[in-house]
Amino acid sequence: MALFEPGSPCPLCGLPMLETEDTIGFSHLASSNPLILPFDDGVVHRQCISAWDQRDEFVAAWNSEAGDLALIVTPTGEVCYAAGRPVLGDILFGATVGSLMGAVVGWACCWLVGEQDIVWSGGAIGALAGAFGGAAIGARHGVKRTDATSSEIGTTVCIAYALLPALLVLLGGIGLVRGRLAGHFMLGAAFAFPMSGLLIGGVLDRIYEGILKRR
Ligand SMILES: [Zn+2]
Repeated sequence: MALFEPGSPCPLCGLPMLETEDTIGFSHLASSNPLILPFDDGVVHRQCISAWDQRDEFVAAWNSEAGDLALIVTPTGEVCYAAGRPVLGDILFGATVGSLMGAVVGWACCWLVGEQDIVWSGGAIGALAGAFGGAAIGARHGVKRTDATSSEIGTTVCIAYALLPALLVLLGGIGLVRGRLAGHFMLGAAFAFPMSGLLIGGVLDRIYEGILKRR
């Protein structure tokens, strides 16, 4: 896959490509096809190539030479790798992780603001909302990947959800929330949530990858 250098110009719109933008990179095919040449070993905005009037001709030309790294056009018109198309497994895995993390986060948030009576409802609401968010992240995830077995769904879900209690802890620290944690401990606790999310999500991703690889 081509190395992405932030700031390098997009071959289609000519604007510098930023790290925060959605891009798609291509391997070196040493192709002589003029449709492929501008992208061979290059990177382009996903939006630009998806809206390009020669998109379908390019995808067909690329697929005739690229072997395993076949491209598809999704129903919403986006160019992505065929191996990364949304699969039911990703959606289910995202929903499962989202539901578990949502329950923990919902419970923790109620506990942090001192709402003893509603911690269990908080957990249940979190689990339900979390499942939907996780499914959406799982469905969206594949567009970025070039192989069929890698997963960052768990990490993405866990870190994203852990930001909520981290925010509450920080708000507690500045006195906006009736907090249980104080002082230096507060800052540590605020970082502990996303860090735990990173660790737990990573472990869940490796388990999911193991299942994908065995199929
Ligand atoms: Zn562009």
